[in-house]
Amino acid sequence: MALASAEREVHEALDALKAPFVVHHDLVLPRTGAPVEHLVLGPTGVFLVEAKRYANPVIVRGRVAHCGGRSMGPVVDQAARRAAAVRSVLGVEVRAVLCVLSPLEPDGKRDRLVVDGVELTSARWLTRVLTRKGTGLSYEALVRLAALTVVRFAPKERRPCACGGDLVVRRRKSDGAALLTCSRHPVCRVAEPVALRSA
Ligand SMILES: [Zn+2]
Repeated sequence: MALASAEREVHEALDALKAPFVVHHDLVLPRTGAPVEHLVLGPTGVFLVEAKRYANPVIVRGRVAHCGGRSMGPVVDQAARRAAAVRSVLGVEVRAVLCVLSPLEPDGKRDRLVVDGVELTSARWLTRVLTRKGTGLSYEALVRLAALTVVRFAPKERRPCACGGDLVVRRRKSDGAALLTCSRHPVCRVAEPVALRSA
């Protein structure tokens, strides 16, 4: 399988998560400009997902991950650092998930492979990791976080709301203030003030 198609598979698996899950691709961290490959917000929590492919299998023994005789430490650290950076922007716990596109050992639905706070999974079990019951987010919290993500990260592509609608910027009639609201308003009542940057 070509590299591009394996990565596309991860992209599509994430996009297949249904509302109230909200998925963003290719966000950029404020200040550092570091890339956030995928950010998933759902009732099961907030996840930073990075997909990695190697020429050799990735082997997890105890709490250490190796690939081709080398420690995966730097890769794990980077994912953990980026999750911490997103946490500081959104103010909620963000879990880092490393989706390994090379063979992963062990690999099964019973195995939770956590190395330095970062969970390793294969593409096969990725959806399960993201939908597994854990620290939950209420629907209201999720709707607000989805709006906050758009305000803080300003993604270029579609801006999904947790209700399945789209978040759009509107001007409030009374005072002209810019608000991020949902296309399903008034059914969905998210309204997050946006500081519009001058172009
Ligand atoms: Zn909505």
